[in-house]
Amino acid sequence: MAFDNLERPLPLAPRLDAELRRAHPSTILAAAVETFGDSLALVSSFGAESAVLLHLVAQIKPDIPVLFLDTGMLFGQTLDYRKSLARRLGLTDVRDLRPHYADLAAVDPDAKLHQTDTDACCNVRKVVPLDRALAEFDAWITGRKRFHGGDRLSLPVVEQAGRQVKFNPLANWGKAELEAYAAEHELPAHPLVAQGFPSIGCWPCTQPAEEGEDARAGRWKGLDKTECGIHLARAPGAATNVGGDI
Ligand code: SF4
Repeated sequence: MAFDNLERPLPLAPRLDAELRRAHPSTILAAAVETFGDSLALVSSFGAESAVLLHLVAQIKPDIPVLFLDTGMLFGQTLDYRKSLARRLGLTDVRDLRPHYADLAAVDPDAKLHQTDTDACCNVRKVVPLDRALAEFDAWITGRKRFHGGDRLSLPVVEQAGRQVKFNPLANWGKAELEAYAAEHELPAHPLVAQGFPSIGCWPCTQPAEEGEDARAGRWKGLDKTECGIHLARAPGAATNVGGDI
């Protein structure tokens, strides 16, 4: 008996990716909400380009859980922007995720870990808190885009990440589309954009970008590091590990 020609249905993530590959971000978000309902969260840094995705999702599901990583190392302007933008867009469930005191006491008691081991610092301040918060969800939405370069050049619209499905509704959009959308809807910019920061993370690891550089060139400048670790692929059911690789 030959089975070679049997067509097996694609798993959910690649099937959705094939269907939504060229879709408008609103269509991708609507499909994510329809597929996962209350098991869906959005992760936002309330950074330089965050307003567009937050506005798009607020039109569809303003009570979606929005997970915001407050690492304890953010610019004061980011904390102010997170409050004012959420209020303006009518987002009713923004959750501030902070590292646990016990975890910090174990690996970063004097808050200087970023000077010696940025991967370990990102792990305890971002990866572990996000993993804890995402445990109750089956899918999440990110604001990553291909034009940011690096590993993001080949970003799919929908992907499997461990046991969860990840949606990247802005993967296809470039800077011009983001700026046009922000202008059309009069979205307020992060205050540091006007000071030359096209991408904004923690203050010790963020610098303005030079003319002609990638948007994320000012992040971890001078290091090989380009990602904080929350988007690294993980094995299904992988456990978090404070202070170590996951
Ligand atoms: Fe630490 Fe820098 Fe990572 Fe923020 S971006 S968690 S300060 S290493």
